[in-house]
Amino acid sequence: MSGAGDRIATRAVHAGHDPAAHQGAAVPPTYASATFVASDTETLEALNDGRARGFVYSRVRNPTVFAAEQRLAAVEGAESVVLFASGMAAISGALMPFLRAGDEVVATPDLYGGTARLFAEVLPLQGITIRWADSLAPDAVAAAMTPATKAIYAETPTNPLLRLVDLAALSAVAKRQGALLIVDGTLGGPLNQDPLSLGVDLLVQSVSKYLNGHADVLGGAVAGSRALTRKVRSLQQAAGAIMDPHAAQLLMRGVATYPLRMARHNASGQRIAGWLAGHPKIARVHYPGLSDHPDHALALRQMTGFGGLISFDCGSDAAARRVVDRTRLFGIGASLGGIESLISQPGNTSHHSVQPARRAEMGITPGLVRISVGIEDADDLIADLEQALEQA
Ligand SMILES: *Cc1c(COP(=O)(O)O)cnc(C)c1O
Repeated sequence: MSGAGDRIATRAVHAGHDPAAHQGAAVPPTYASATFVASDTETLEALNDGRARGFVYSRVRNPTVFAAEQRLAAVEGAESVVLFASGMAAISGALMPFLRAGDEVVATPDLYGGTARLFAEVLPLQGITIRWADSLAPDAVAAAMTPATKAIYAETPTNPLLRLVDLAALSAVAKRQGALLIVDGTLGGPLNQDPLSLGVDLLVQSVSKYLNGHADVLGGAVAGSRALTRKVRSLQQAAGAIMDPHAAQLLMRGVATYPLRMARHNASGQRIAGWLAGHPKIARVHYPGLSDHPDHALALRQMTGFGGLISFDCGSDAAARRVVDRTRLFGIGASLGGIESLISQPGNTSHHSVQPARRAEMGITPGLVRISVGIEDADDLIADLEQALEQA
């Protein structure tokens, strides 16, 4: 088992699993059991009313999911983590316990498409008003708050322009009004940023991306204090969007290599972003690790690595399409954070449903291409981008 002084790479391998408790199994086993039987009625009653700790039914608690939650909490440095069936389930699971009809949420612009949809189409039906701040700046968020604001919701870094929210400043705004600060940190991850230490109340992440890293699991995590996550878990037990134990076992394996993979994403991302910035056919590169990025100074303060997501402008939709279609090693797809590199045009994938005028306002130009740099050899990825750009 992992101890309190261990660093992230050690916790990622050992936390949440004690071989001695599982017949010496080196790898956490999968408890693929919906139900658990008790030795007698008295024991079952004690488990049901919380006098004894143990397992009764997997919607309430499953040993493999519980182990994965412990591993992730150790990696995040969080008191507690609740795992969900997907990142979107985690986002709704972090918001729902704290909102009633009549409440308001202030949200920063440029959110993940699924979240924008949840805010536009689902929460309003329950009598919850979403007020949009005009920018990511804490002042703009403060200006949108009213006495009914129960939560501030933000994402950092954002997709696809990798803008950053100043979490310490936003936390001060939230605390002033007694609102919760809920942040989607999927694009950062615990190796690159520590939102909970900057005053974020609940950190939500899609583990489908960097944390699992192998594009074979969908899942989401809510991390935070025991007091807040207890409410999150209670609603999850009632509503049912739990993680499956098979997914949890794969996630434990994914998280074990997360620090190793992320260090590679960071190194290759920085290198490829620098290379793209010097390419004559590229008008502009968006990467927080480059000194001309508008949030570079904040990135140096708030992050320790800048990840594998890069976007760059090829000048026109036609040129962007040619580059995307001519790469050999980059899969044409919209996800991110996996071991394999992906390429897409945000204008026709993640931001397809956004009106062109609004897209232009957001800085999502027709020539914009986004890449998720995988763990392949960076020289091979650069050579591939080079030949694609030459043909474009
Ligand atoms: C992918 C993603 C989500 C949604 O996660 P799913 O696991 O696909 O439900 C939420 N936020 C961000 C930033 C994402 O990249």
